[in-house]
Amino acid sequence: MTHPREDALLAEIEAREGEIVDLAQALIRIPSVNPPGEFYRDCAELLGQRLAARGFQVEYLRAEGVPGDTDRYPRWNVIARREGAAPGPCVHFNGHIDVVAPGEGWTRPPFEARIEDGRVYGRGACDMKGGLAAAVVAVEALIDSGAPLPGAIEISGTGDEESGGLGGVAWMAERGWFSKPRVDHVIIPEPLNVDRVCIGHRGVWWGEIETKGRIAHGSMPFLGDSAIRHMAAVLEAFEHELYPALGDQPTAMPVEPPGARTPTLNINSVHGGQPDVAPGDDAALPAPLVADACRLVFDRRLLIEEDLGEVKAKMRALLDGLVQARPGFRYSLRDLLEVRPSMTEPDRPVVRATASAVRRVLGREAAVICSPGTYDQKHIDRIGHLRDCIAYGPGILDLAHQPDEYVEIADMTASAKVMALAAYALLTGEG
Ligand SMILES: [Zn+2]
Repeated sequence: MTHPREDALLAEIEAREGEIVDLAQALIRIPSVNPPGEFYRDCAELLGQRLAARGFQVEYLRAEGVPGDTDRYPRWNVIARREGAAPGPCVHFNGHIDVVAPGEGWTRPPFEARIEDGRVYGRGACDMKGGLAAAVVAVEALIDSGAPLPGAIEISGTGDEESGGLGGVAWMAERGWFSKPRVDHVIIPEPLNVDRVCIGHRGVWWGEIETKGRIAHGSMPFLGDSAIRHMAAVLEAFEHELYPALGDQPTAMPVEPPGARTPTLNINSVHGGQPDVAPGDDAALPAPLVADACRLVFDRRLLIEEDLGEVKAKMRALLDGLVQARPGFRYSLRDLLEVRPSMTEPDRPVVRATASAVRRVLGREAAVICSPGTYDQKHIDRIGHLRDCIAYGPGILDLAHQPDEYVEIADMTASAKVMALAAYALLTGEG
């Protein structure tokens, strides 16, 4: 793009800041809370009707039969496509329309989308209705600029990201919506800061370990076998064997924050024996029993260099070692969730075009990063087999899912400029 045209496009987006804010507010005011998955259709239609009026072909897709899809909570997604003047690549902007429940601690109404001090406050403001609004206005301004645009532009609003994406991007990817030749480049405007290009995320393995014991009266524990003591041995083995080994793995993933550049292991919960006595419930006393079962749920995060099969084998070896070492030790291990790590090569066009647009708009180098947690890129990579995917959008990840979540208006505008320039460069091959 020649500089005068680029300048005009950036000025036009600046002039449309009010439209970005209006659209972000309109989206936030639809409380599309997941779970259970409220008002997906309303969000989808807000986007679809707007884009249909701009010459997009719009389809509404219900992920019928996926977990959570019911007539009360149908899993609606929307996809809009606009063909360009000539054949060429397709640039796709994908945003999730669902938000997590507001929770406690808000000092502003979570679905009013109130503006204060240059920010829009509300559940989903940063994660990620602000980013979706910025993408829509970026694309509209690009189309209105009159620049010849080959290829195609797509915008999708998808559900269920907050619960794993099964009724959203995963479902659509299984049906070819996120694969070549239909799509070439995907930008997901998740809140990763306006000056950072996120090329991927670590993987996840959630599992549950159960140790078994034998119940007995608590006054004669020698007659039983405590599952909790067996679990204590598991925890000790974690401390001595697993945790020290986590730091040894060098990685090519530029995860932010840097503390997440090693594999991590969190123990989400441990439950053993009888239910807890509620605090303040003086009437209740604990039952005098030896625990016959104890369950631990862990959250192991994986780097791109790691093989999930090997990680699982190590966990099994640790537990089997305890079977050998500890009389009476019995366990079961159950998988709860698996996500493979995903990372787009940093020299792919979608990464380069977005980083160069950040430089042009913000006047500083973009940081190329990976996310410690996952987002819908996993499905586009693993199911759609499309590696040209990044997350780039306004907002600060730390604010996601927090009370008083907000997005800076200036950040939405800056990110819209970046998305417009990046889309133009990818469609035309001009940068
Ligand atoms: Zn999100």
